[in-house]
Amino acid sequence: MEKVRTRFAPSPTGYMHIGNLRTALYEYLVAKKDDGTFILRIEDTDQERLVEGAVDLIYSTLKECGLEHDEGPDIGGDYGSYVQSERMASGIYKEYAEKLIELGGAHYCFCSEDDIHHQKEEAEAKGVSFKYNDPCHNMTLEEARQRIANGEKYVVRQNIPLTGTTSFEDEVYGHIEVENSILDESILLKSDGFPTYNFANIIDDHMMNITHVVRGNEYLSSTPKYNLVYQTFGWNIPKYIHLPPVMKDEHHKLSKRNGDASFQDLVAKGYLPAAILNYIALLGWSPETEQEIYSLDELKKSLLCGAHQQVAGDLRYRKTDMDERHVYPQYGIGTVPSAGAAASA
Ligand SMILES: [Zn+2]
Repeated sequence: MEKVRTRFAPSPTGYMHIGNLRTALYEYLVAKKDDGTFILRIEDTDQERLVEGAVDLIYSTLKECGLEHDEGPDIGGDYGSYVQSERMASGIYKEYAEKLIELGGAHYCFCSEDDIHHQKEEAEAKGVSFKYNDPCHNMTLEEARQRIANGEKYVVRQNIPLTGTTSFEDEVYGHIEVENSILDESILLKSDGFPTYNFANIIDDHMMNITHVVRGNEYLSSTPKYNLVYQTFGWNIPKYIHLPPVMKDEHHKLSKRNGDASFQDLVAKGYLPAAILNYIALLGWSPETEQEIYSLDELKKSLLCGAHQQVAGDLRYRKTDMDERHVYPQYGIGTVPSAGAAASA
């Protein structure tokens, strides 16, 4: 059997949000359940959002939670660099985008913002949903290369077949199938030469031999699109484990941008890392037993992909449970009892 390799790929943007930590935990457990490798990759290509010291915070949070990685920027490994900006500097994304164009999976696009805006307005006027119909799709490679040689700005867009369907099996949601006609021809490489988030992910995951990808279910509908890229390259598609969102209340997802609960906030309130981790494991996963407290070792043994539930992990409803958990010395799990913790949580 192929050795399981998973990766946690956070952006260093300030602090460890609970949803992110859950992704890290699941990536870790999926790898460790089968004696696999857990990798840390830093996705720092969105330079505007970078926060100083944020990478150190990622290291320290993983360490405090016991989610120690086997390969990463700080310890190296055979698949480096583990820092996206360094990978970017080596030119790999542009190289692969060009290769994909040659294989017929993408094309150069020279459209201006105005061209796109114009089509958007037309769609709005007609009351139909907008999907950019790119006139560059049918341009010959020869013509495109000539325009680039003339100094024109371009992006690289994915080619999507107009007919047929694309499907995959998700470990949580089961069979997912979408009509190709509803998928848009997204940008893979921007005009500044930077890859888009999803394209960089595909390339990095392939180059690092990632076998399982854990991520939020907001990617469920676009995953078929990215699978088309894997197929065009003839690469193995990883197994997907899409997780329901961690909710703040019935209608709102926990969001890092809105300053919602982070790992650091909970630690500051007196919760022990192991208690936080235990609580996070049970967001979106219901074991078929009455057991409520799991050590990391027990989670490794009991967390099976198929047992994940398609329910949103609701932070609000479970908060009370967590407040009541004080100390479980047998597992080293618990909160440091403090008056402030219960009152302000
Ligand atoms: Zn175009």
